[in-house]
Formats: sequence, structure tokens, C-alpha cells
Amino acid sequence: MRNCHRCNIEMVEGFDIKVEGGAYGIKISDGTGIFAKRIEKPKVAICPKCGEISLYIENINL
Ligand SMILES: [Zn+2]
Repeated sequence: MRNCHRCNIEMVEGFDIKVEGGAYGIKISDGTGIFAKRIEKPKVAICPKCGEISLYIENINL
């Protein structure tokens, strides 16, 4: 569960990030190129009150 750090209420989690105009998502990686260590696709949580968004990784395994 994530709380908005402005409103201190529960945020709605589990949204995907998409690049507008395409089906592309984004992902987080350590390094660049084909040898980059891929971490995971980030998810988004949204505060239903103020609209604050928060990026997070579901399975943290660094
Ligand atoms: Zn908020």
C-alpha cells in the first residue's frame, strides 16, 4: 500500500506507463546497451485526491 505524501491517503496502484502515440512502455535498467541489467517495468500509483503520481517497482530484486 502506498500513501500520497501530500494528502496522506491511499493511492490507487497498478497502472502501466505507456508512451503516448505508441505501444511502448518504459523500463528501468542498470547501464546501457545490450548488456544492461534489466530491472523491471515500473508501475504507477495515482492519488485519487490530488493526482500525484508515484513510480514504483513491484518486485524489488536488485
Ligand atoms: Zn494526494
